[in-house]
Amino acid sequence: MNRRFFILLSITGFIFILAFAPVICARADEKLVIVIDPGHGGDNLGALYEEYTEKEMNLVVARAMQEELLKYEQVEVYLTREGDTNISIKDRAAFAAEKNADFLFCLHFNTSEERNYFGAEVWVPATGEYYAKGYSFAQIEMQELTGIGLYSRGIKTRLNNLGMDYYGILRYCTAKKIPSALIEHCHLDHEKDQGFYQEGEEQLREFGRLDARAVAKYLGLRSTILGVDYSDHPVQQTDIPSETVAPDRTEPELCRIEAAEIREDTGEITVHIEAEDPDSYILYYGYSIDGGRTWSPLEEWPRPDQWDHSSREHEFSITVPFDQELQLMARVYNGFDLYTESDRLDLPPVPDPQRLKEEAKKDYVEIHYEEEVISSSEDTAEDSFLQIAIIIGLLLLLMFLLTLVMAKMIISLIKGNKRR
Ligand SMILES: [Zn+2]
Repeated sequence: MNRRFFILLSITGFIFILAFAPVICARADEKLVIVIDPGHGGDNLGALYEEYTEKEMNLVVARAMQEELLKYEQVEVYLTREGDTNISIKDRAAFAAEKNADFLFCLHFNTSEERNYFGAEVWVPATGEYYAKGYSFAQIEMQELTGIGLYSRGIKTRLNNLGMDYYGILRYCTAKKIPSALIEHCHLDHEKDQGFYQEGEEQLREFGRLDARAVAKYLGLRSTILGVDYSDHPVQQTDIPSETVAPDRTEPELCRIEAAEIREDTGEITVHIEAEDPDSYILYYGYSIDGGRTWSPLEEWPRPDQWDHSSREHEFSITVPFDQELQLMARVYNGFDLYTESDRLDLPPVPDPQRLKEEAKKDYVEIHYEEEVISSSEDTAEDSFLQIAIIIGLLLLLMFLLTLVMAKMIISLIKGNKRR
């Protein structure tokens, strides 16, 4: 009886193990599927700047990112395009869905119309858990990007006229229930960013390794090859929004300019700007000294505590040209590239100290010259007076002598007559 029970129990156990073994194995084998989407390709070149073509750069970064991610355990990594091919945005999302992707990362480089923006940004889907996941990843990605010295333009959403995600790849991924994020690494056409990509392909591949590291941290991956374990890496959880997260569509509320100090000797002006955007944050500022006809390049506006909270005030110094009417103005941009201009501040010209010095020297010379002219004319007057006096004296002497001679002649004439 006991023996029979034991055999029955063994058989049941064996059947149980056989039945569930594939499930257990599958769970242990379950890999995270990462899809990397190198933006553009084929006829779609993407951003162009000098000899740089975005579609090519995106592919270099994507390949390096894949190579790096494959060093981690339990991952499958696919690219939506392996070469320079045309592939629609829809097909890219469909490819990710087919692979059963856990996340899609879309890679790009940027340019701006007026070639005045710089820095990195991450665009995330605007709704539900896709927003939350995109945002949580983007925070890590942005930490990596700012870590190498890039300026953060922020983590943002962008909507089309229908109130849906503007970027097709994010929109289609959300429709296919795939979390996604679009990374704009930097601006090709701004000198502040050019040092991050112009040193050749290896520098671009560095971006790929950086992206891979951010993904590994976000997904908590481990790599024996790299000797890293991010399984306990803290990922800041983002609340799932109940409504679509809309971008800031209004300009900054405040932009006030003031000249705090003017140094007459150097032409240096300390400019004070007060700026605020309660909907987002101030990102850049620029100034004009000619009433807005020309503008300075944009500069970073301080955000010391958090990337999405800007300081209210900023002070900086500019050197203005001397002897020129100044019409000082400021512009502040928010994180969504909308700007507000300050009122015009009219300042009198700062006199050129060099010119003042030269003029003072000239005045001194002129005064002395005039003095000399005056004194010399006095001399001449004195001289001519003396000359006249001498002439008169000589004339008088001559007349006296003549009179004397004449008197002598008259006397001798009278004497002669008497003798006859
Ligand atoms: Zn692009």
